[in-house]
Amino acid sequence: MQREREQGVDVLVLAAHPDDAELAAGGLIAKCVRLGYRVGIVDFTHGELGTRGGPEVRARESAAADRVLGVAVRENLGLPDGHLEESVENRMLVIEAIRKHRPALVVAPHGDDLHPDHAVAGRLAAAAFYPAGFARLSTGSPPHRPRGLCHYMNHPPFDASFILDITDVWEVRLAAVRCYASQLHDPHSDEPQTNVSSPGFLARLEARYRHYGSWIGVEYGEPYWTAGPIPLGDPVACLAGGDRP
Ligand SMILES: [Zn+2]
Repeated sequence: MQREREQGVDVLVLAAHPDDAELAAGGLIAKCVRLGYRVGIVDFTHGELGTRGGPEVRARESAAADRVLGVAVRENLGLPDGHLEESVENRMLVIEAIRKHRPALVVAPHGDDLHPDHAVAGRLAAAAFYPAGFARLSTGSPPHRPRGLCHYMNHPPFDASFILDITDVWEVRLAAVRCYASQLHDPHSDEPQTNVSSPGFLARLEARYRHYGSWIGVEYGEPYWTAGPIPLGDPVACLAGGDRP
């Protein structure tokens, strides 16, 4: 699968802000890399409205997290942080990003989120996914329709369509999150405090993934949502085989 797509990726993670992908889908990224898939990330904004650090710091932190996770390619659409719009123009940008990277699987935020940028990014991803395959819709790159789309969890919980066992990559996932040091707790920082920079943030993060892990009988699990049921080809392999945690 990997060799057939030398110019693209197997998995493309879409995110409103640098650090969203690591914070909410870092386990899936690390797991897919470990399984031999090429993984790319497209951030929609530079996170310039972030309370702490700045875009340059965030870019350095993202590059460090990419190295930790083994991300093959990362790009930024340069859209305005805090003002992400569900416009036709932005949908075309996302379609072109999908076509350029030619993923089999697209992973995006959920379209219903407390942060409007996350919600809009999730809805843009869902709106771009199908038309990316339209032969007569011109964006620069040839048409490409991915086979799968799933959404990761940010702020409000949802009923998970599936929970990924991320136990074997938990430490890598945590190391990638720690790359965003400007966002995390620093007792010597005089920058304003945020949820992420509060002393208990990493403990709450761990609690969330332990919680989802408990539902599938493993130490750590990452929840995902898909529109509609997940098709199974081999019920024994999927529900009772080696793929099962
Ligand atoms: Zn975000």
